[in-house]
Amino acid sequence: MNVLFMGPPGSGKGTQSKLLRDRFDMEHLSTGDILREAIAQKTEVGMRAKGYMDKGEYVPDAVVIDLIRARLSSLAGKGFILDGFPRTVPQAQALDQVLSELNLQLNGVFFFDVKKDVLVNRLSSRRTCRNCNRIVSADMVSNGKLEDCTVTSKPCNFYQRNDDLPEVITKRIQVYQEQTTPVIDYYKSNPNFLTVDAAMPADQVFQIIIGKLK
Ligand code: AMP
Repeated sequence: MNVLFMGPPGSGKGTQSKLLRDRFDMEHLSTGDILREAIAQKTEVGMRAKGYMDKGEYVPDAVVIDLIRARLSSLAGKGFILDGFPRTVPQAQALDQVLSELNLQLNGVFFFDVKKDVLVNRLSSRRTCRNCNRIVSADMVSNGKLEDCTVTSKPCNFYQRNDDLPEVITKRIQVYQEQTTPVIDYYKSNPNFLTVDAAMPADQVFQIIIGKLK
């Protein structure tokens, strides 16, 4: 089973990806996570991407297309979830090309629809674990009682991403509207396309996704 999650920053793609990955043992391919890992490891790709990411701009298409091509080529039959890719029409066209080369198809294409004010609230209170990339709200961190990190088995090491700071959030939403809205149109004719009201609680969104995939 191969799935694509599309939607603005803060619409819950990462949260739903982790739920789906854990339920069906799929590969979670988040270009944002891959790029942040590259930055943490100070690789050439990471150093190139950082400037764009800190400003809330998109990393050049060629960089993310190469990353995704390499990951998809090494899956050896495991189902995958694409989270945050494609974000531009050239990326969507490149994905079609790679999928056809690898003889793979998308069984579900979900567009997470959420209004801008909800996104701004979610993103500004979002905290991310440096190790397992778990996403929670700042309230949940201060209330404690969260499960341990799935990577370290110790309490998660939460931080606020540079691009979740208020001045960058507005820019990210603007870039999304300009460059990613056309990608939604690109996929609308796909028979497996579904728009999900992603302002709902995460468990309800997950049930809708599972229902469609069944
Ligand atoms: P995300 O974690 O998906 O919100 O992505 C964080 C940042 O990584 C984005 O704001 C972009 O700077 C960069 N990024 C992630 N995925 C892509 C992509 N498909 N195309 C271009 N830039 C991306």
